[in-house]
Parts: sequence; structure tokens; C-alpha cells
Amino acid sequence: MANKSKFQAIKGTRDLLPPETALWNYVEDTARNVFETFGLDEIRPPIFEPTELFARSIGAETDVVSKEMYSFEDRDETPVSLRPEATASVCRAYIEHGMQQLPQPVKLYYMGPMFRRERPQKGRYRQFYQIGAEVLGGGDAPAIDAEVIEMVMTFFDKLGLTAVELDINSIGHHAPNCRPAYVEKLKAALEKVKDQLGADSQRRIETNPLRVLDSKLEHEQAIIATLPRIADHLCPDCASHYAAVKRQLEMRGVFFKENWRLVRGLDYYMRTTFEITAKGLGSQNAVCGGGRYDGLMELLGGPPTKGIGFAIGEDRLILSLQDSGKGATPQGRDVYVAWMGERAYATAVRAAKDLRNAGFSVELPPTELKFGKALERADKLGSRYALILGDNEVSEGSWTLKTLADGTQQKFTEPELLEFLKQGKSGG
Ligand code: AMP
Repeated sequence: MANKSKFQAIKGTRDLLPPETALWNYVEDTARNVFETFGLDEIRPPIFEPTELFARSIGAETDVVSKEMYSFEDRDETPVSLRPEATASVCRAYIEHGMQQLPQPVKLYYMGPMFRRERPQKGRYRQFYQIGAEVLGGGDAPAIDAEVIEMVMTFFDKLGLTAVELDINSIGHHAPNCRPAYVEKLKAALEKVKDQLGADSQRRIETNPLRVLDSKLEHEQAIIATLPRIADHLCPDCASHYAAVKRQLEMRGVFFKENWRLVRGLDYYMRTTFEITAKGLGSQNAVCGGGRYDGLMELLGGPPTKGIGFAIGEDRLILSLQDSGKGATPQGRDVYVAWMGERAYATAVRAAKDLRNAGFSVELPPTELKFGKALERADKLGSRYALILGDNEVSEGSWTLKTLADGTQQKFTEPELLEFLKQGKSGG
């Protein structure tokens, strides 16, 4: 197994290795297919950005920005950071490329690594991967929120993810009679129970009282249950938006659970928030978080533009799939070319080229092997067939194909062989 080598991957980072990478590719291909059926296109923003972009959008006081970013000074002294998430980059790109001129909403998805210096544990890494999407512009009709959520649920359904649970909430908006009024009430209620709360929650009463609702501390749960709930304090517009989102989800056959404690750690979220959990993940069981962020674009200096998006934790998605037995099947080879002799080699090279062009995976040993050794290798690589090419086969124009599972052999001319393999492929 693992050897102690001089160099090791940095704590919180890891190598994704075959055969697991096949599962990653399958998940990413499925995301592309599903998202494209919902009319999304891919965006690939850079992996590092000016630190200021994240400080502005995520909030300089948040844990992500104040403690977890990998930041450095570029040689021209610009402070830059590895991206801890991609929403800010997508919004920056929307503004930078004048995408408000395009038909709205602009619907974009992305996938790739994100970086946060968190304490590593199962399902939590310092380099982790997200698959996400943003729907920008085109208003804030509840149907947009519902369709975005429907899309994620369709994706999870296609993957066969198990015990998927969708929680939704509305956290109102910035108007004084909505979230700010609620936050004041919440603060007042928290002040009264301050002594019974842990240090983190006590600090958050001032910095970010909504986050207290996120607390997982056992002894705080009973106290939190008595706090005022935002659903009872939404302004009429936000209340009717939330009711419409729920109706729209029902119409689309999407099951959800209302969770009044679901607030997002990032500052710019408004109205709809949602989180999805899945099986086999222990304490880090959130596979997707999302919500509406109607103020973000202006915060970044862009035109007033409504937005909603989500980010799926791909590492956790993979862990959950593996937990329910949907791991990757090792990638075998279609054909192992067992060649012997100079003349046979030239034919083997050409045969490998033709078979690869036809879409088969082919292993062509670089040096001549004894027949037994070649078959042994073919077997170890999980090859379906061995194509036996010796000088006799080449001069007779009759090639031998051995099916490794049962050891049977058949003789073919070259065109017949290709035809036979193609039929096998389409027939499964
Ligand atoms: P966030 O960008 O914080 O809303 O996170 C969205 C999703 O990304 C979460 O629900 C997790 O699935 C995933 N995620 C966030 N941080 C990490 C991490 N450090 N390691 C692995 N997955 C993460």
C-alpha cells in the first residue's frame, strides 16, 4: 500500500486516482448533460483572482475570507487569492464582458477546484471541487428559483444519489421592514440567553447573528428552538415570493422540507436559500448549498442584476455515491495486441491504429513478449480480447482473437475482425 515518500501531498489536498477518476468523469459528464437540458452553458473562470473581489462579495468578516483563503502578493504587489468559491468570479465575468446585453437570464455552470484552509476531515478538504451554476438577470420570478432547484434534484436523481433531502428557507431581503427588523429581534432574544451560549455563538450575536442558527452544538439546540423565526417576520413581498417558490416546487414534483434555521454563511444571500444532504457523509453531510443573491452584482460595481445559484461539493457527492455502492468499475481494455516477430509488429502497429480510430481501447506492448507473458498482462489489465499476431497469422491474413473470459478463439480477416468487434460493442 502507501509508501512513505520524501514528498507528500499537502495536508487537505489529495490525488484523485484511477479507477476513482472514472467516477469523477461520470459525475461531471452527467452534470454537463443535465445542465445543458436546462439551457445552461459552461463558464471557466480563473483559479485566482484579486483578493478584493472575495473580500467585497463574500464579506471581509466571514471565516472564509478572514481565515481560510490562500492569499499571496503577486510580483507587482497585487494581493491575489486562490478562489474559495466561484460565484464572485462568475459575477465579475458577467460585468466584465457586458453580459447584460445578452438575452436574460444568462445561465452558466462551472466545475473545478476551490481552496479553503479548513481543518481537514472526511468530506472536508483544503482543495475541494465544486460543480455549480448561476442564473443571472431576467428578474426574480419564483419559477427561476424552482427551476434551479429542480435541475439539481434531477442531476442527483440521474446519478442515483440516495437519501437525498432538500431543505429550503427564505431569509427575506435588505428592506428595513424585513430581514433587518428580524435580525434586531433575533439579537434582542439572543442577548437574553447569551450566558447559556458557547463562545462562537456569543461572538456572532454582534458579527452575524443569523449564523447562530447554524450552530450544531448539542447544548445550544434547545435554546435556539425558542428563538424568533424569520418566516414570521418576512415582509409581504418576501412572504409571497417564498409561498410561490414552494408552490412551484410542488408543481415540479420536487419534495422539500422547510427549515427555518437554514441561513447561509455568506453575506449576500436574499430570499430563497436551500441545502441538500445525502447519505453516508457523517457530520459533513451537505452536498449542495444555494440561494438567491439579489444584491451581489451591484456590490461588485455592476448593473442591478438579480441572481441565484448553487454549489455542489463534488468530493462529498462522490463519497456518498461510493457509500451506496455506486463506485467506479475498473476501466479494462478492449483489445490487447499480443504480437510476436518483426513482420507481425508492423501489422500490429497498424491494427492498433485502426482499432483506436474505431474507438476501441487498445494496449500494444512496446517490446516483444513471450506468448504466455502477453496473455498474463492482457488478463491483469482486464482486457476483453487478446489479438494474436505472429508471423504466420500475418502471412495467412487470418488473425486470431481470443476472448479472455472463456478462452475461446476465433479466426478473422482484418475487415471481419473490425466488424465483429463493432457488433460486440453496440450489443454491449
Ligand atoms: P459553500 O460554497 O460554502 O456554500 O459550499 C457549498 C458546498 O461545497 C457544500 O455544501 C459542500 O458540499 C462543499 N464544500 C464546502 N467546503 C468544502 C470543503 N472544505 N471540502 C469539501 N467540500 C466542501
